[in-house]
Amino acid sequence: MNSVGTRLFAAFVALIVLVILMISFTLIVLLRNNPLVQRQDLAKLANVSSSITRLDLPGVELNTAQDEVKVQQLASTYGVRVLVTDSAGAVLLDSAQPNGPPLPLRRFRTARQDPLFPQVMVGQVRDSNLTQWLFVARAFDVNRVLVTAAQPRQLAALVFFGENLLLPMAESAAVAILVAIVLAILISRSIAQPLQKMAAVAQGIAQGEYAQSAPESGPDEVRALGQSLNSMKQQVQASQQGQRDFLANVSHELKTPLTSIQGFAQAMLDGAAATPEAIQRSANIIFSEADRMRRLVDGLLDLARLDAGLRPLNRNALELRGLLAAVTEKFGPQATARGVALLTELPPTLPPMTGDADRLAQVFTNLLDNALKHTPAGGKVTVVATASPGWVEVGVSDTGQGIPAEDLSRIFERFYQVDKSRARRAGVGLGLTISKEIVEAHGGSLRAESVVGIGSRFVARLPLVRPEDTTVTKKRSEIGNRR
Ligand code: ADP
Repeated sequence: MNSVGTRLFAAFVALIVLVILMISFTLIVLLRNNPLVQRQDLAKLANVSSSITRLDLPGVELNTAQDEVKVQQLASTYGVRVLVTDSAGAVLLDSAQPNGPPLPLRRFRTARQDPLFPQVMVGQVRDSNLTQWLFVARAFDVNRVLVTAAQPRQLAALVFFGENLLLPMAESAAVAILVAIVLAILISRSIAQPLQKMAAVAQGIAQGEYAQSAPESGPDEVRALGQSLNSMKQQVQASQQGQRDFLANVSHELKTPLTSIQGFAQAMLDGAAATPEAIQRSANIIFSEADRMRRLVDGLLDLARLDAGLRPLNRNALELRGLLAAVTEKFGPQATARGVALLTELPPTLPPMTGDADRLAQVFTNLLDNALKHTPAGGKVTVVATASPGWVEVGVSDTGQGIPAEDLSRIFERFYQVDKSRARRAGVGLGLTISKEIVEAHGGSLRAESVVGIGSRFVARLPLVRPEDTTVTKKRSEIGNRR
């Protein structure tokens, strides 16, 4: 009863009935006001009136009971009311008397000539019951006037409608209802079928099945729903895949140093590492692996807090130039040790801006650390800051090994590292992910450009002011996508 088809059909039928009722009503009103119907009545009265005059009545006195009977017979034969008045308008005889309501005879004088009925005068009166009468009057003889009257056929229009129009209209209604059934079935199919499929797909998604896709067909709204459902399905799928990958990565990253720690601790315990040098080496490895684990856990905690919006940005007026100079200075000894030139190209002043100094320092520290790590001796790392209206851009460029194009698009993903060999990996692959999230939390963006063999450039673009953004508000859907 509740299906789209039934509702459509009910709506169609209601509409058809309404339209037919409106057409019928209009036709009846048209017919009622049609002067033709009234003309027919007047013609009848005029005919009767001339028939009566043609009868051989003039000799009748019309004032005896016998005459009255005669007039009444005439009236009922013709189906009209017959009256005879004297020239002053007094009723001498009325076929409807004594029972019928008298007609106000003075009103007979309102009768007019009608071009269609030239022999008689035509008019209308209302009796004491307010019933309307059509009448025609004509001279009966020198002293008397003959009036024939009849009630206009009020229902003539209805009768005409019933006799002539009802059947064709009922037939058209039946045909329209048949068409409505077909239309309702077709339209409901085009809506209900894709909806049913979508329900099945949504149920599949709830159960973790992603093989089926929602149909993107049917009316616009249904098609839009199908498209949204499919894109939601892809997002859920990507998000679940992301979670699985993330868990696998975390387990792997934790397990590897743990195995190493366990192995070297075991060697120290059971005496396999007996010499002071061997013990020293084992302890060093245990220390560095534990340190790696700590950095991993720190990074994960950082990300988790950023994701959950638990670490609000501590936005204050920020002296970016000073901050960049300080961070760069910290890397001075490391650059010198590596034989890499560390340069800054900072304008004398940068426009005032707001931001979380500690978090931004974390970003530039990470970018500089990466740049120095990947630049061989003799190379150059440069920190450049430029201001444009509303924005400031900080670029960290190096003349290092560069990043292949296929890796460049992925380096901001969690745990993504270009060099897969663990021995050469110092970091854990979370630094750029965290940096990007911090810059985005400031309302900015972090991008990377690189040419293999020439060098790389990381550019953080930051808005000068974004007061409404006082907390890290990351949408979980974005996180799911980014993996
Ligand atoms: P991590 O440095 O801990 O490995 P990051 O997220 O900071 O993780 O960097 C991801 C990867 O991007 C690095 O493993 C490295 O391969 C690559 N990368 C980052 N910065 C540079 C750079 N300046 N030059 C070359 N490769 C880089």
